[in-house]
Amino acid sequence: LRKTSVQELLRSTDLDREVLVKGWVRTRRGNKYVQFIAVNDGSGFNSIQVVANAEQFPEEKLKADGVENGAAIAVRGRLVASQGKGQSVEIQAEEITVYGSADPTTYPLQKKGHSLEFLREIAHLRPRTNTFGAVLRIRHAMSFAIHKYFNDHGYFYIHTPIITGSDAEGAGQMFRVTTLSDTKPPLNEAGEVDYTADFFGKATNLTVSGQLEGEVAAMALGKVYTFGPTFRAENSNTARHLAEFWMIEPEVAFNDLQDNMDLAEDFLRSLVRYALEHCPDDLQFLNDQYDKELLNRLQFVVDNEFKRLTYTEAVEILKSAKQKFEFPVDWGTDLQSEHERYLVEKHFKKPVILTNYPKDIKAFYMKLDEDGRTVRAMDVLFPGIGEIIGGSQREEDMQKLTQRMQEMHVPEEDLWWYLDTRRYGSAPHAGFGLGFERLILFITGMANIRDVIPFPRFPKSAEF
Ligand code: ATP
Ligand code: MG
Ligand code: MG
Ligand code: MG
Repeated sequence: LRKTSVQELLRSTDLDREVLVKGWVRTRRGNKYVQFIAVNDGSGFNSIQVVANAEQFPEEKLKADGVENGAAIAVRGRLVASQGKGQSVEIQAEEITVYGSADPTTYPLQKKGHSLEFLREIAHLRPRTNTFGAVLRIRHAMSFAIHKYFNDHGYFYIHTPIITGSDAEGAGQMFRVTTLSDTKPPLNEAGEVDYTADFFGKATNLTVSGQLEGEVAAMALGKVYTFGPTFRAENSNTARHLAEFWMIEPEVAFNDLQDNMDLAEDFLRSLVRYALEHCPDDLQFLNDQYDKELLNRLQFVVDNEFKRLTYTEAVEILKSAKQKFEFPVDWGTDLQSEHERYLVEKHFKKPVILTNYPKDIKAFYMKLDEDGRTVRAMDVLFPGIGEIIGGSQREEDMQKLTQRMQEMHVPEEDLWWYLDTRRYGSAPHAGFGLGFERLILFITGMANIRDVIPFPRFPKSAEF
């Protein structure tokens, strides 16, 4: 008899047969006549109910065998129609084997609900909860949907370096990579370990973005994307920032800002639609448990076009807003998440794409507008999140690009390879970066970015 997954059994119409299921006990309850054991194997949100007749499985024996919350067990029995509410089938137990028990006096995940803050402290156990099972399955579904979207649209997946010499943003928020080794640590002149020693003699960092390398690839393969880990040594003690996150960065040759907005909007809407179609149980649970507006909000994004306006127009709106902001808005300053969320949640009540930001608050590679003051940047702003995407049409003119690099103190000699894309066969192109965890925040309705990644990295995250 081979094991069957819980989800397969729950969908089964082939009843009154012998089955074998393996998973973890979610709950055990009952009385002296019958015991009900909910078994979940991670294959989906729902558990299967195992009915254990007390004559064969008295509660005392189950307890003695360690059939308690969290225990790993195998159940052999008959799959039958269920009288119980909310499930069509159940298993009448004939044999229960315990692989690993979980002591109910110390196992932290007992029946009662746990706060997300508490679960953050036991991040290694929280995947066993309904909430994190749902979040992690949705995360998986979204990764798959991202690759599927790009594959269906003729894009090529490019692996850009994790260890890199380039600082894409020129922002300096990087983790330095050194060649420390325990046999021969690099020493400075005083004979102390030199923590600034470089990677094989060259300054190297963990990547803050795969964009520049993505542009290189787009100049050969036309439509490409990266999807990889990204590191920022910023003070990420916010509910929207991690020190290690994942970013999706498409880059397309011959696209302009308009094409870039169209792509971002179609891409995001497709991903939300995919989640609604493929993760109904997990989303329904999150909707009921945390946020009664979640499903409505997701459907709204699928059904409605985003509002598009310029940064300058947005600043006018924010200046005449009745709401008092913590940070005042003036043309030329970067918007804070309070401003972004005002535009999305209060003013337009829909996702917003802001374009044409002042050049001084954006990166050197963005294409200069005719007025010489703004660049062809775009940020996509989402309800509950603020910025979810940052992107732009890139400057393809060698002269204008090097001029911007000088103004912003980006050393040309480090980026000679990047400048070659402008030197030889330069073409208009555009792209953007979508923060994967911000997408998952939106789709799951979770409020804190640390609750949508299995092992969150932030200042003082010591574990793992
Ligand atoms: P923010 O203004 O929120 O700090 P950013 O403008 O610094 O974001 P970009 O450099 O534009 O970010 O990166 C592209 C996308 O990556 C952002 O739109 C966001 O979705 C995501 N992102 C940026 N920084 C982080 C971070 N520290 N943790 C998680 N996601 C991030
Ligand atoms: Mg930032
Ligand atoms: Mg920003
Ligand atoms: Mg940005």
